[in-house]
Amino acid sequence: MRRLIAGNWKMNGLISSQAEIEALKGLTGGATCDIVVCPPFTLIDRAVEAVKGSNLVIGAQDCHAQSSGAHTGEISAEMLADLGVRYVILGHSERRVLNGEDDEIVMGKALAAHRAGLISIVCVGETRHERDEARALEVVGEQLRGSVPEGATSRHLVIAYEPVWAIGTGLVPTSEQIEEVHAAIRQMLKERLGDDGHLVKILYGGSVKASNAAVIFGLRNVDGALVGGASLKASEFAGIISAAV
Ligand code: PEP
Repeated sequence: MRRLIAGNWKMNGLISSQAEIEALKGLTGGATCDIVVCPPFTLIDRAVEAVKGSNLVIGAQDCHAQSSGAHTGEISAEMLADLGVRYVILGHSERRVLNGEDDEIVMGKALAAHRAGLISIVCVGETRHERDEARALEVVGEQLRGSVPEGATSRHLVIAYEPVWAIGTGLVPTSEQIEEVHAAIRQMLKERLGDDGHLVKILYGGSVKASNAAVIFGLRNVDGALVGGASLKASEFAGIISAAV
């Protein structure tokens, strides 16, 4: 399967950060994987212009479930599609925890993204406490069942397994732990989507860097990565991308 490497800039980046996108274009011209950069909303318009004619595409970090209306401060999937956005990250653990987003909300957003023609990157993952209680598979299964809408297909859906305790901490699960969860996700996708479940990309996310990417990409059912901190510097992100091809 063609790998997908997505960078989540979170609430980072000013107009001057455009230089990182320009640099990334220069560093990844020959890459044979799909590369997505998800800057904050404020930079999306410029970023879409900047990547024209390159192999980079632009994603967003969230969208609203409604297409328009009285939702002050929100951004709809249709607005993102209108700008030329192709992907949207949904249900990131920071939004689940800090913005109180539950599975039902994430599913509503995934439906909206699908309606607008965007590809959803739906994030799932257990907390440290849940892993310590040996509940990682149960929690991820519940999130997946609750967040992935009926009728989802591999053309509109990517799953990112992001253990909450590995995000931004420098901690990475063992290879066995990653393979165990990714295999369980693959199995659930096959049960939900039939044969098409084989084609849904499953990304790993959580402290991926250029130095550990090759090992992670070598694991079964790992089809790419969702990268936070290491996506902010073009040279580091390019190092991860080169490990994927
Ligand atoms: C993320 O926020 O999705 C993430 C994986 O962050 P980091 O790579 O910094 O751990």
